[in-house]
Amino acid sequence: MASNGEPQQDCLFCKIVAGEVPATLVRETDTTVAFRDINPQAPTHVLVIPKAHYPDAASLAAASPELIADVVREAGEVAALERIAVPDGGPGTGYRVVFNTGSGAGQTVFHAHAHVLGGRGLEWPPG
Ligand code: 5GP
Repeated sequence: MASNGEPQQDCLFCKIVAGEVPATLVRETDTTVAFRDINPQAPTHVLVIPKAHYPDAASLAAASPELIADVVREAGEVAALERIAVPDGGPGTGYRVVFNTGSGAGQTVFHAHAHVLGGRGLEWPPG
């Protein structure tokens, strides 16, 4: 799907970026916002989004490798802040970064976002 990064009128996450819909912010940079998921699936469940609108991770990566790198870097910063960035610490440590891409894979909000999940044991393969 073509996108030039401009805000979209009926996009929920563009509204969160604009402060028109409230969210519990965890971190913000010039290019990204991290906020808590409204329906957490783990003790830590934070969404990291680019401020610019791209419908999914693939279109974001194609348009701006730098911006998707910002999102992934921020996912790591969030994990460190939440104290789940613990390698080799056993169940409940470490974290997962997920980009659901396409409705068949569970994507419901079509503004690119990384889920940062941790704080409990995470099964593999995922459901
Ligand atoms: P997706 O299913 O597209 O991968 O992820 C979208 C996520 O956005 C879901 O985990 C859902 O719980 C979360 N979400 C949906 N609406 C809101 C909202 O209004 N505020 C927040 N903070 N999260 C939301």
